[in-house]
Amino acid sequence: MAESNLGINLFFKKLKTQFDSNIIMNWTSLHKCILILFLTIALQFSWIAWKVFIVLNPEIWQWVNISLIRSQLILNTASTILLFFLIAFCYFFQDKKWANTYLPHIVINIFIILMLTDGFLVGIYSPATVFAFVCISGLGLILFNRKIIYIQLVTALVIYISMMFFTYWHIIPYAPIFSTRIFENNRHDNLFWVGSMLYFIVPILIAGLVLCEILLSQWRHRESLIKKLSETDPLTNLYNRRFFNEKLNAIQTTQTHYVIILIDIDHFKEINDLYGHHFGDEALCQVAQLLVSHIRLSDIVARYGGEEFIIALPETTLSVAQAIAERCRLAIQNQVLESLDHHYVQLTASFGIATSVDDDNVSKVIHLADKALYQAKQSGRNQVRLYHAPINEIA
Ligand code: GH3
Ligand code: MG
Ligand code: MG
Repeated sequence: MAESNLGINLFFKKLKTQFDSNIIMNWTSLHKCILILFLTIALQFSWIAWKVFIVLNPEIWQWVNISLIRSQLILNTASTILLFFLIAFCYFFQDKKWANTYLPHIVINIFIILMLTDGFLVGIYSPATVFAFVCISGLGLILFNRKIIYIQLVTALVIYISMMFFTYWHIIPYAPIFSTRIFENNRHDNLFWVGSMLYFIVPILIAGLVLCEILLSQWRHRESLIKKLSETDPLTNLYNRRFFNEKLNAIQTTQTHYVIILIDIDHFKEINDLYGHHFGDEALCQVAQLLVSHIRLSDIVARYGGEEFIIALPETTLSVAQAIAERCRLAIQNQVLESLDHHYVQLTASFGIATSVDDDNVSKVIHLADKALYQAKQSGRNQVRLYHAPINEIA
C-alpha cells in the first residue's frame, strides 16, 4: 500500500517536473500548430457527435436543415482526416526551415476557415460564434507570433464583417443549419437551440480555460525561476551580492540597526593551486552551508565575491555578532574536506565586523567591516576582528 502510494507520488512528481519544464510558450511554432490541430480535431468530433445525434432523432428534424446536416457530416469527416494529415505533415517536416515558416500560416488559415464556416452555419450573431471568436483570438495572441495572428485576425474580421452585411442584404442565408421555423418563434424559448448553443460553447470554454490555466501556471513558474536565478549565486546557492545589497538597503530604510560580518577564506589561492579548482568550488559550497547552518533565521548571508561571504544581522549587538562569527570560524576550521586525490584538508577564514551605529551609510559600514577583516588578515588570519572607530573619530 505504502509502496503504491510512493509510486503514485513519484508519478505526479515526474508529471509536475515535466509540466513545469515543458513550457508551451517555448514550443516551436510547429508544435503549437500540432496542439491547435488536435484541438480542432476535438471540435470536429463534437460537431460530428451533434450531427449524428440529430440524424438519429427524427423528432428534431423540424428545427434543422437535415439535408445540409447530412452533407456536413461527410465534410466534417473529410476535414478531420485532412487535419490528421496536417498533423503528420507538421510532425515529419518539423526540422525543415520552410515548414517552420509557412506551415503555421497554413494551419492558422485552415483553422480560421473552419471556424468561420461553422460560425456561418450556426449563425454569425449567435453567442457560440462570438464566443469562439473572442476565445480563439486571445489564445492565438498568447501562443503565436503576434505578426502572424494580427494578419490572420484582420483577414478573419474582414470576412466576418462582410458576412454580417451579406446576411443583412440576404445574399447569404442566416444560420442555414437550422430550419427557418426556429427563427419564426423566439429561438431563446427553443430548448433545442439553447441546448445546441450550450453544446458549442461549453467545450470551447473548457478548452480555453484549461489552456489558459496551463499557460498562466507555467508563466508563473518561469517568473519565479527567473527571480530566483537573478537573486542567487549559481555555485553556492546563497544570495548574490546584488540581491544582498537590495536587502540591506531595505533594512536601512526601516532605520533598523544592523551588524555586518565580512568573511574571507584564508590562502584560498593555495587551496586551488594544490587541490584543483573543482575542489576549490566544492570547498566554497561547504563553507556556504556551514555559514547558513550557524546563523539565525533573521540573518542574511550572501556570497560577496570569489571566496568572500557577507552576513547582515539586523537588530543585533556587536557582542552577539561576535559570538556568531566565532561560531562560524570554529565550524569552518573544524570541517575536514577530502580532496579527489584523498588528501584531508582543513580551511580557515578571517572575519571582519562593523555596525551601523558607527556609520549609517550601507557601503560605508561594509567598508568598515572590510577594514576590520584586513586587520584580521594582518594579525595572522583565522580570527574575528571588530571595527573600532579611532578615538578622534568617536570624539
Ligand atoms: P588571503 O588569505 O589573503 O585571502 O589569500 P587568498 O589566497 O585567499 O586571496 P587571493 O585574493 O589572493 O585569492 C583568492 C582566490 O580565490 C583566487 C581565486 O582563484 C579563488 N577563487 C575566486 N573565486 C573562485 C571560485 O568561484 N572557485 C574557485 N575554485 N576559486 C575561486
Ligand atoms: Mg579575497
Ligand atoms: Mg582569501
